Order: sequence, then structure tokens, then C-alpha cells
Amino acid sequence: MQVLLVGAGLSGAVIGRKLAEAGHSCRIIDSRDHVGGNCYTERDAETGVMMHVYGPHIFHTDDEEVWSYVNSFTEFLPFQNRVKATAQGGVYSLPINLLTINQFFNKTLRPDEAKAFIASQADAAIVGPQTFEEQALRFVGRDLYEAFFKGYTEKQWGCSPSELPASILKRLPVRFNYDDNYFFHRFQGMPRDGYTPMIEGILDHPSITVELSTPFTPDMTAEADHVFWSGPLDGFFGYAHGRLGYRTLDFERFTYQGDYQGCAVMNYGDRDVPYTRITEHKHFSPWETHEGSVCCREYSRAAEPGDIPYYPIRLVEEKALLGEYIAKAEATEGVTFVGRLGTYRYLDMDVTIREALDTADAFMNCLAKGKTMSAFISSPM
Ligand SMILES: Cc1cc2nc3c(=O)[nH]c(=O)nc-3n(C[C@H](O)[C@H](O)[C@H](O)COP(=O)(O)OP(=O)(O)OC[C@H]3O[C@@H](n4cnc5c(N)ncnc54)[C@H](O)[C@@H]3O)c2cc1C
Repeated sequence: MQVLLVGAGLSGAVIGRKLAEAGHSCRIIDSRDHVGGNCYTERDAETGVMMHVYGPHIFHTDDEEVWSYVNSFTEFLPFQNRVKATAQGGVYSLPINLLTINQFFNKTLRPDEAKAFIASQADAAIVGPQTFEEQALRFVGRDLYEAFFKGYTEKQWGCSPSELPASILKRLPVRFNYDDNYFFHRFQGMPRDGYTPMIEGILDHPSITVELSTPFTPDMTAEADHVFWSGPLDGFFGYAHGRLGYRTLDFERFTYQGDYQGCAVMNYGDRDVPYTRITEHKHFSPWETHEGSVCCREYSRAAEPGDIPYYPIRLVEEKALLGEYIAKAEATEGVTFVGRLGTYRYLDMDVTIREALDTADAFMNCLAKGKTMSAFISSPM
């Protein structure tokens, strides 16, 4: 089969690789001038620091097959994300843990005492919370909510937590021990030389051709037996029903001699600080030594046409529009919509790879059984 894959990010690369290994001919195009999609990394020309160009990416998974898949293309070194937060004049440990609670409230509580204390802070009068704000107040009370959730969420999503659904905060966001590892997954790490060589390795197969700086044009489908689309779902249909809402990010780069903040990611909880966080990239490669440092202040805003879509908004209005595009996609033959943009969902890298491997398997199953490949393997709803 001649397969066209739109997008040379993780989705396109992983599907392409699996189909190429099965004997199919894969043409992968990307409108950008590099592979890797949003996982793209490159060395900063001035400092030599490995940069996560589209925002910090930490690999973490419980999926053993995905972990051995990525390790077969590059060397991963141990890395755990330990985020800090500056709020209300102090610096605290995140996610909220026993250290955060003791420092924030100037106490020396043990786990059981802290549990009872947080329960006493929580707003018990809220029954059946409907909004993110109510849910947070019910879980942690007003002081922690205002320091760590309110301002940050307003900056990140451009609206008040009282306009967001309670479902965003599913569990009590507090740990009653000193564990400050941001993720719970068994396998966590960082590729020694960044993500780009890993994705180049995935794409390195004689049956894969990669064309960069090549935006999709409809005539390309004529030469293909099947298309895998990892671009924006609404973009495939020329935004015929309007645009699905996204948040975009602006990164303000600055350099520093030495160590600017002592950690990779510092969140800023206060509303009057306009950025959400500062990333100091050299701390993602603690095995490297660099005198110079390069940091990015991260600002979030509503995506306009021409901006990079980062985070799907997925509130009631967007979901209604999404339903219209799903119906259009399901009525389109010969195209499967994949990845974070093709299915309008936030997907971590391990989930993206898992879904890409499963998509390639599903495609080959359909071929073997003479069935039509569906528009989606994972439902965008
Ligand atoms: C700020 C941020 C931080 C993140 N941090 C983490 C993290 O710490 N850990 C983690 O596991 N995951 C993280 N992720 C998620 C990770 O970025 C995604 O899992 C991954 O990028 C999804 O890959 P993809 O191939 O589906 O999409 P993308 O990487 O977006 O690739 C899609 C590609 O399609 C191309 N394309 C689009 N339209 C067209 C067109 N019309 N013609 C040609 N090409 C087109 C684009 O140029 C792009 O290269 C983060 C995401 C964001 C936004």
C-alpha cells in the first residue's frame, strides 16, 4: 500500500515505522522544517543547552512495551520532574505535599495530622461541587486554592476556575508525605540527546520518505491508498464549521550566566505575574555541564488562526463543534485521524505512541480482513 502520513511528529513517525516494517510504502510530510512535532529538541546555538523548543517534555509511562520501544531508538537517562512554585512571596514544593503544607502554614505536621488539618481547611459546606473552584475549595480550602490553583488556572486557561468543570480536579490534589516526584509512573526518563534523534531513528527506514516544509494539499490523497492525518481535525475540513478552541503558548527566551532558578520548572501562582512558569532547560540534562543557561518564560493565551495550537479547550461549546467534525470525519473514506490534533485531545507522549502502535495494528487487521479502516481508533469525545 502507498500510505500518506500527514505530520512527522510521534504519531506519524510511529505509525509510519510500523507500516514500513510490514512492507508498506510510507510518505510522511510535515509543514515544519523539522521532524518531531511538538517533541522537537535542539541545541541552543549560544549556550549549547538542549532545548525543548515547544515546551518541557518529560517521558513517563507505566506501559512496558512503549518504554522498551522508545529505549530501542535512543538512550534514556533517569530523570524525575520536581516542580517548584513561587506564590505569595514564598517558594514551595509541588505537587502540594507535606513539605508544601508545613512551609505554607508554618507548621510541623506529620501525615495524619496534616490530613486532619487539610480536612479542617476544606469547605465542607460545598455539596456536589459543579465547578473547578468549588471542587478545589472542597478539597483543600481557600488558602491553598488561592496560592496554587486560582491564579495559575486563570492564566493557563484564560477564565476563572468558577467557569471550568469540577471534573478537572478528580482527586484530592495533595500528598501527605514528602514525595515531590511530579509523576507516579514506573518508567521516567529523558533521552540523553533530546527527542529529535529518537524520532529520526524511528523514521530511519528504507520504506519511509520524509518531506519537510511540505504542507498538505488535497491532491496528495490521489496518490495514496490511505491517509493518516495528525494535523488539526478541523483543519482537514478547512475549518468549515469554525475553529475548535485551543490555548497557545508564547515563550520568552532569555539567557543567564550560571544557574538562574536551580530547577527545571518554576510555576508562578500569583495572578499579577503574567507568565505561568519559567523553564530552565539545562536542568533537563543534569548529566551535562553548561556555564550559560537559557530559560523561557511561558505565557498562555487563546490561539488565533496561524498560532500553534497547544492545549485543546474542550468545554461544552467546543465539544458541540467537535461532534460536527467527528461526523464529517466518519463520513470521509480513506482517512484516519490520529494524535493530539487529529483527535483534539491532550495526549502524553506514551499515550500517543501506544495509540499509534494500536492504529497501525488496526490498519493491518483491516487489510487482512478486507474491512474498511475507521476514521478514529480512539474516540475524540
Ligand atoms: C506544552 C506541552 C508540554 C508537553 N509536555 C509533555 C510531557 O512532559 N510529557 C509527555 O509525555 N507529553 C507532553 N506533551 C504532549 C506531547 O507534545 C504529545 O504527546 C505529542 O507531541 C503528540 O504527537 P503528535 O504527533 O500527535 O502531534 P504533534 O507533535 O503536534 O505533531 C503533528 C505534526 O503535524 C504537522 N502538521 C499539522 N498540520 C499539517 C499540515 N496541514 N500539513 C503538514 N503537516 C502538518 C505539524 O507541523 C506537527 O509537526 C506536551 C504537550 C505540550 C503542548
